[in-house]
Amino acid sequence: AGSPAHATTLHDNHEAFVRAQGAIPGGVNSPVRAYGSVGGDPRFIASARGAYVTDVTGREYVDLVCSWGPALLGHAHPAVVAAVQDAAARGLSFGAPTLGEVDLAEEVRRRVPAAERVRLVSTGTEATMTAVRLARGFTGRNLIIKFAGCYHGHVDSLLAEAGSGVATLALPGSAGVTEASAAETLVLPYNDLDAVERAFTERGSEIAAVITEAAPANMGIVPPAPGYNEGLRRITSAHGALLILDEVLTGFRVGPSGWWGLESGMVAGALPEYTPDLFTFGKVIGGGMPVAALGGPASIMDQLAPLGPVYQAGTLSGNPVAVAAGLATLRLADAAAYARVDHVAQVVGDAASAALAAEGVAHRLQRSGNLFSIMFGDFAAAAGVRNYAQAQAQDAFRYKAFFHAMLDAGVNLPPSVFEAWFVSSAHDDAAVERILAALPDGAKAAAR
Ligand code: PLP
Repeated sequence: AGSPAHATTLHDNHEAFVRAQGAIPGGVNSPVRAYGSVGGDPRFIASARGAYVTDVTGREYVDLVCSWGPALLGHAHPAVVAAVQDAAARGLSFGAPTLGEVDLAEEVRRRVPAAERVRLVSTGTEATMTAVRLARGFTGRNLIIKFAGCYHGHVDSLLAEAGSGVATLALPGSAGVTEASAAETLVLPYNDLDAVERAFTERGSEIAAVITEAAPANMGIVPPAPGYNEGLRRITSAHGALLILDEVLTGFRVGPSGWWGLESGMVAGALPEYTPDLFTFGKVIGGGMPVAALGGPASIMDQLAPLGPVYQAGTLSGNPVAVAAGLATLRLADAAAYARVDHVAQVVGDAASAALAAEGVAHRLQRSGNLFSIMFGDFAAAAGVRNYAQAQAQDAFRYKAFFHAMLDAGVNLPPSVFEAWFVSSAHDDAAVERILAALPDGAKAAAR
């Protein structure tokens, strides 16, 4: 378990938040960290280890946020920290190529062979932004199709009806995005191949790409219907458009080769059922440091500068310290690590659902591999929640009560009903027990 011993000074959490609000808009550097939809003060974190985070008052919580995905191995894994320290001692940034970047790109390609060439960037937003630019440059077309409730970072053209913080704050998009930019994005309902067919029938020759979360996790978990991603592949191929599979959240988390690996049988070594043109990665690929990437066949990726006309760059791209964290994380993410993450996700998801059922709280447990979330409300059990409109129709107020009861009991859940619950391979039986012990109180609060 983590320990507050190394947090030398104890602070008042509310004072910390007041001070933060005087210096930082809303006191946070990313809106999902604010407790906007659940109310109260976000906990200021002093340290984290394994399955636990410790706030500035010295209070410890079992963590189900895991840095919103990156902490697949838990926090501050000793081997990852050692790799970072070792890299840092050799220099923080050179602005020149390093062999560590090649190692990381090769590791990505080993896991996802269709990512023949990999360009490293610093955030998922940069990865999707570059993928969109590359798709436009490659096809000579302007329109992009995205799906309502999917989040691809804060790229202008991808903020329309986005998930994550945009969903949490119930925004249609963002101020400051020009009409011209919004007009180049077609937003369609998720899991509806007919809508995609229709859009291509009407405007197929203008559509550069379809971008989709490999398995959406930013409107709560909404699994792709069987054959949905393959269907997108079929339609885009028929019209000469690219398919961008956004695996920023799912990549290297739901399995060694991401969602595409699970879905395509890559893990079993079988031939893939479908292959997108471009992949985007983030989160786990940096192991908690700023690394993200896009990958695809050389024929498309070589359109990027310096070889091709599509410009993309970054002072800190492929930063040696960040790359060391990512590489160490991926090298430790073996079959046993994924088996543990899968197991913990199964146990915690089932237990949360059972606790809510015992209190008569209408809900649905939604899963995509080891990603899961609970939707509050009366959903038709068989089909589950299939799109954003259904996800928005939840009794979100129940999550607010549930969240705070769990926090009081020492469990740190994501502060929004539209986010996935993240577990790690460091969630040992003691951590899981603590979560299970908190659930009855959480469920009682949700029932009120
Ligand atoms: N794409 C998906 C699917 C994401 O979940 C996220 C972040 O949550 C992003 C892109 C953006 O990544 P970043 O926050 O690193 O810019």
